[in-house]
Amino acid sequence: RGGAAQRVIPFAQPGSMTRVYGIASGKGGVGKSSVTVNLAAAMARSGLSVGVLDADIYGHSVPRMLGIDRPPTQVEKMIMPPQAHGVRVISTGMFTRGNEPVTWRGPMLHRALEQFLSDVFWGDLDVLLLDLPPGTGDIAISLAQLVPTSELLLVTTPQLAATEVAERAGTIAVQTHQNVIGVVENMAYMPCPHCGERVDVFGEGGGAAVAERLTRVLGHDVPLLAQIPVDVRLRQGGDDGKPLVLSEPDSEAGKALRAVAERL
Ligand code: ADP
Repeated sequence: RGGAAQRVIPFAQPGSMTRVYGIASGKGGVGKSSVTVNLAAAMARSGLSVGVLDADIYGHSVPRMLGIDRPPTQVEKMIMPPQAHGVRVISTGMFTRGNEPVTWRGPMLHRALEQFLSDVFWGDLDVLLLDLPPGTGDIAISLAQLVPTSELLLVTTPQLAATEVAERAGTIAVQTHQNVIGVVENMAYMPCPHCGERVDVFGEGGGAAVAERLTRVLGHDVPLLAQIPVDVRLRQGGDDGKPLVLSEPDSEAGKALRAVAERL
């Protein structure tokens, strides 16, 4: 074949009305995917047209968390994303066989991301959320190159070990000139099931520390947008494919997540 076909990323075109957010964390297991699917479901519920691109090759748990078990279909050259709770989803996991671990390296992941952004029929999205792999990986830089107007949302736990790497993930935005819209502190506390008192399971203050630090480094206000408690129903909802913001919208965690969704 001749020269490489020019891929067109609709979100990178001048005049695109789609807001694109990369959801990032320093390390795995802090609840990045849980936050992503709940934000997406909350926004879809409020009437927005929402897509999620699950680029977390280590986790790719988004389809399960939204209860999606159908693969994408193909119409002509476009990939049609399956949909649940009003959210269109494409996941790296949909393009691997069975539960094979993904061993894609940087350049391959860059091309996969480019393809997911250009060859998927997303339709007219108001918002596209990308569940990024944890860490300061190349994929955040790829996103910034492919969609220069994309912004970042950082998820951390209150724990020092998580905040240090979260800060490092956030400072990538200095190089990429991306805006960091804010920090979400997940697993911020657990209400005692007996007395209701807050137990700081994972310490405290991590979210605020990351927000302050990034505000200083980036030179623009990076707010702490929410503190989401540990809630068994949030985990359960993830396992069952029914996001908490839909089943328990008025729980503490549900309210905190909906408040973040309103800021995006
Ligand atoms: P990450 O995407 O950062 O790796 P996940 O969203 O997969 O993290 O979350 C890791 C595990 O913790 C999942 O089983 C999820 O259901 C659970 N979890 C995440 N946030 C909470 C929370 N606030 N309360 C209870 N369980 C949570």
